[in-house]
Amino acid sequence: MALSETPFNRLLELCTALRGTTRRKEKTRLIADFLRGLRPEEIAPAVLLIVGSIFPEYDERTLDVGFETVKRALKGGRQRTLIEEPLTILGVHRLLTEIAEATGAGSRRRKERLLEALFSRASRDEVELLIHIIFGEMRIGVNEGVMLEAIAEASGVDLELLRRALMLTGDLGEVARIAILEGEEGIRAVKPRMFHPLKPMLASMAEDVEEALEEHGGLTAFEYKFDGARIQIHRHGNNIRIFSRRLSDVTESLPDIVELIEAVIKSRDVILEGEVVAIGRNGRPLPFQDLMRRFRRVHDVEEMVKRIPLRLHLFDILYLDGRLLIDEPYRERWRLLKSICPGELLAKRIITDDASEAEAFLREAMEEGHEGLMAKRLDGPYTPGRRGKLWLKIKPAETLDVVIIAAEWGHGRRRGWLSNYHLAVRDDGGYSMVGKTFKGLTDEEFEWMTRRLLELKIGETPTTVYVKPEIVVEVAFNEIQRSPHYRSGFALRFARIKRIRLDKGPEEADTLERLRELYERQFRYKARLTN
Ligand code: AMP
Repeated sequence: MALSETPFNRLLELCTALRGTTRRKEKTRLIADFLRGLRPEEIAPAVLLIVGSIFPEYDERTLDVGFETVKRALKGGRQRTLIEEPLTILGVHRLLTEIAEATGAGSRRRKERLLEALFSRASRDEVELLIHIIFGEMRIGVNEGVMLEAIAEASGVDLELLRRALMLTGDLGEVARIAILEGEEGIRAVKPRMFHPLKPMLASMAEDVEEALEEHGGLTAFEYKFDGARIQIHRHGNNIRIFSRRLSDVTESLPDIVELIEAVIKSRDVILEGEVVAIGRNGRPLPFQDLMRRFRRVHDVEEMVKRIPLRLHLFDILYLDGRLLIDEPYRERWRLLKSICPGELLAKRIITDDASEAEAFLREAMEEGHEGLMAKRLDGPYTPGRRGKLWLKIKPAETLDVVIIAAEWGHGRRRGWLSNYHLAVRDDGGYSMVGKTFKGLTDEEFEWMTRRLLELKIGETPTTVYVKPEIVVEVAFNEIQRSPHYRSGFALRFARIKRIRLDKGPEEADTLERLRELYERQFRYKARLTN
């Protein structure tokens, strides 16, 4: 291992080499060699910098510098003379941390000055790399997966064990440090840290309850699928923190949930998971749109607590009294959850092998204003961050037949195709836009659609081709929302194309009238927010 601090220039050499190869094996070898040559305290910061971050995923600090600040700092930085010590990896990381931690009054100026100091000590190529790091776009083809493989190579620790440790800590740098310094034993001993959220387990789609039953070997647990926001609750002693699905801390917006947990949960050392739903006057769920007005609220929280009450439905437990539970089967986790939490807080569920019983349960869920069902394999462990078949979601989506009135040219993999479609319903002899989607088509269909739309072109801008309203597509969506963006006043949430309806002409597409009806119908089972 190196004795003096590793110069930042070595990281630059690595990144240049990484950019020079597209071969995954070559990339992992380069990174592994590099990591092996670092000082212990350099491993974590270097790993983070290579993947274009400064802090681990759970960490809420951000640099918060924009393009303009960087430009100004570049000018300022260049005016200085190059007399200082060369940058080191640790030095860069420390400075970037300081920039992130500059907040409050005068922080703009301070961030700029720190950036200037950084740039003034960097060579031209180092400045370029720093800018890539600052904007989190390394363009060296090293994502989390490649990095994990490199760590496995550098440390000799099994890749699956590393993945698991990453799930638990959410900290790629820390995983690398432990693996390289302490080996397999250290990695096996990694525990989730309280108040560091685990990545949520994800679900795959099932068409219907039969498919879910079959997939789960004939018997499964069906839970209501609530249309709310997922939360992970960490409680340790007198502390409670609540994290969103994307791992940000939302505790301040949810004082009522904190109070509830304090009052009713029997353990003080626990990680729970559930869904919060906004509730209207009649006790029915409010649309998702209204929940979001509440969820990330940091101002006037108290007033919102009264105006949009929440209901909590718990469905999992990941940790209890010093024991990590993610490898326990769902059946056992549920038993433990039930032992510390009152029944009315548990997600409603049945265990059955009978499709018609499950169907009836699904209808009941829909009639109570929920989204559908989740099927959970009884012997399934909790797999953080993974989308597998242990959890299956069944949500009967609504569909509408809409007309494509314009399309935008795609980027990346979809370059060369018209791939983002403007969707419209019929409205008084014309068409009113209700959303856009690029989801649901196969590559062949994109090809076909692009050719067909170009034949129908009636105008264009550099990004968008406007077409004669001719092609009808059936789109599925999750909810109809009120929208100020479209003249129609509505937007389809999560629209995706299910089928191209060559059998239908534009005159057979659905109307704004019908959309309005469907919007109103949502409130048959949902509550409406009254002002
Ligand atoms: P989706 O967002 O459509 O992929 O569905 C998965 C999401 O459904 C989860 O992330 C949860 O937020 C939500 N959800 C609602 N009810 C449940 C439940 N009973 N179990 C697990 N997830 C649920």
